Amino acid sequence: MNVVETRGLTKSYRGKRAVDRLDLHVAQGGIYGFVGKNGAGKSTVMKMVCGLAAPTEGEIELFGGRAGADARGEAARPAGTSRVGALIEAPGIVPNLTAYENLMAKALALGVVDAPARCREALALVGLEGVGRKKAKGFSLGMKQRLGLALALVGSPDLLLLDEPFNGLDPEGTRAMRNLIVRLNQTLGVTVVISSHVLDQLDRVATRFGVIAEGRMVREMTAEQVQAECGDSLRVRTAD
Ligand code: ATP
Repeated sequence: MNVVETRGLTKSYRGKRAVDRLDLHVAQGGIYGFVGKNGAGKSTVMKMVCGLAAPTEGEIELFGGRAGADARGEAARPAGTSRVGALIEAPGIVPNLTAYENLMAKALALGVVDAPARCREALALVGLEGVGRKKAKGFSLGMKQRLGLALALVGSPDLLLLDEPFNGLDPEGTRAMRNLIVRLNQTLGVTVVISSHVLDQLDRVATRFGVIAEGRMVREMTAEQVQAECGDSLRVRTAD
């Protein structure tokens, strides 16, 4: 089953197409690497999938339930967005709150059952259990990314959308984030979509890839196809 399917997904800003008739297929349980240059349209697709932005045209189907543009041309929020956790651009961390308080604020807004336990669990999932009482403003970039991930996980999502989760991280931080994402996918069974402008960051992480350029889907392919076609260059750049 596909947890995300888009058909002809289009977003125009002042008449210019940022996303252009894009068909995306994300299989349940996998890690989907969404690759494209800066400005290709990755963030805009993710925002539409989680309901933060409305499509100009096209359809989004989440978990098999359909939602699309209504008769007035206004897009409906895709059915199923409550099952989506997203880390997109600035993850909405309040610097003066502790990590735990940041999570509690989100958990309460979502109406999470047994919020304190869930927040402690989310901290442990991302390896921040020791710093829950520390204010977020003292966190390194890597810790902020982890807290952003915990915020995305607090509602126990079935689909996790991570927009450029390695941005700004050093090689060690990137490696830790890659391992964490794979572990979450394997232990929680959560389907993950990760966008990146660097293909090799997703090598040995993503099970399937979609390549986007100028708002269009160039190609969707399996990890094996990527390895066969550009494996050597990937291996050289990710030697660790
Ligand atoms: P990046 O990694 O740099 O964020 P991206 O692949 O995620 O790149 P988008 O952020 O989706 O790309 O942007 C795609 C195109 O849409 C760009 O040309 C961008 O300038 C434009 N765009 C995105 N958001 C808006 C907006 N709110 N208003 C106008 N144009 C926008």
